[in-house]
Amino acid sequence: MKYAPVQNFINGKFVSASTNKTLDVISPIDGNHLSTVPLSTSNDLDEAVKAAKAAFPKWSRTPIKERVQVFFKYKYLLEKHLQELAELCTEENGKVIGESIAEIEKCVELTEFATSLPQLVSGEVLEVSRGVECRTEHAALGVVASIVPFNFPSMVPNWTIPNAIALGNCMIIKPSEKVPLSCGKLAELLKEAGLPDGVFNIVHGDVEIVNAICDHPNIEAVSFVGSTKVAKIVYQRATHNYKRCLALGGAKNHLMVLPDAKEDMTAANVVASMSGCAGQRCMAASAMVGVGNIDHIINKIVAEAHKIIPGKNLGAVINKESKERIERYITEAEQQGAKILIDGRKAVVEGKENGTYVGPTVIDYVKPNMSVAREEIFGPVISIMRTNTLDEAIQIENSNPYGNAASVFTQNGGYARYVIEHASAGMIGVNVGVPVPREPFSFGGWNDSKFGVGDITGKSSIEFWTKLKKSTTKWNPEAGVNWMS
Ligand code: NAD
Repeated sequence: MKYAPVQNFINGKFVSASTNKTLDVISPIDGNHLSTVPLSTSNDLDEAVKAAKAAFPKWSRTPIKERVQVFFKYKYLLEKHLQELAELCTEENGKVIGESIAEIEKCVELTEFATSLPQLVSGEVLEVSRGVECRTEHAALGVVASIVPFNFPSMVPNWTIPNAIALGNCMIIKPSEKVPLSCGKLAELLKEAGLPDGVFNIVHGDVEIVNAICDHPNIEAVSFVGSTKVAKIVYQRATHNYKRCLALGGAKNHLMVLPDAKEDMTAANVVASMSGCAGQRCMAASAMVGVGNIDHIINKIVAEAHKIIPGKNLGAVINKESKERIERYITEAEQQGAKILIDGRKAVVEGKENGTYVGPTVIDYVKPNMSVAREEIFGPVISIMRTNTLDEAIQIENSNPYGNAASVFTQNGGYARYVIEHASAGMIGVNVGVPVPREPFSFGGWNDSKFGVGDITGKSSIEFWTKLKKSTTKWNPEAGVNWMS
């Protein structure tokens, strides 16, 4: 085992969980045993909540300009430890090192945004009548929780950590049991940056801890990022217990390609979107709808996909079950009559035979009712459907239950605007394969890709992590009881 067993982080210290039950942490790159992760119990969560609750009064009363000083230092530390964090991310998640570096750079950008919060959360004040003022202030919620998935071991935690904490909350995070190592490193950096003990805590585990978070009477808000199946469970359970909840789910993102699209640029973007992070991105292109004759672009896509080599510029998928699931989808499409233009099944990387790789896969002549057209595959696979009109393409996109992202590739501004207006997704790209809005714009999908109000990052997150206090003050004694003077 390469690393010591993973521990919880409670009240500023790494501590053992109150259980001997653990899971193995295996590197998808080569099957190496990296560590073990504890399946903590609700007692461990109680300890973390107690620490967070104790830290809350002082932290929430610390002026925000002082609170964000921690995040200026944290940003510097992320940059200082970028290579180390990126290597850890690659080891536990399987993505290639360039992708891990980009992930940590995104953590830096997210933290930069948090340092700008003092400029964004100043309340409003107005003299509503003579000597009478109304004023609003954003107040922290208390102890909040963040439950995260495996596909971005550092970035998704940093969607919530800097904003929630800079806004005065104390946090419990539940990392994915598949990639628990990166979060521990983030805890070390937050401590080194000067975050007081108890403000940030980690409780590792699986379903039991997620349920305990949703049920805990002293947790005020729960953010969740993961599959739609679990997002629905968490949203229902947390709101049933009267908590504020924002639960981001899975995706099936459609790219609409028009015949006038720039061939090379489109092909490069389509392939980068479907194969980046081995297709394990909630913003990955998973379905492509070609409108009219786009054979010339599909030929380029195939040529481009041939340049994607497992183990070189394509990382591993998270585990054996994922690899088998993705390969099952490809086989099913083949059996249903789709044409496999490039087949990523049975990919093996020399010297890393125990790694879980799937090669880039391009499937053409997919019908909208096939499972590869409708379901999230979460692998480096693109399913190409063909239509005669843009309206038919939009109809296919609209009929999918998800709604994270949709993109159009064209040189025609009118068609681009038409897609922006008619696609049923929260994030739209025009000639952009992965339309993630950059800070200060917020991240969040529609439909079955998100449950709850608002978005998880950017300005929108301020509403989620705070509650508004409204005060009315009268400094006009002559007005007596009348504040409408
Ligand atoms: P997942 O839903 O399996 O797990 C997410 C978290 O929920 C983990 O911490 C896990 O321990 C916990 N969990 C798993 N099963 C549970 C259950 N039955 N009850 C309670 N908790 C449970 O997701 P994953 O496989 O880790 O991540 C991949 C998924 O996340 C994909 O569907 C992807 O699209 C989605 N995702 C979405 C976004 C977004 O912004 N919408 C971002 C990243 C990932």
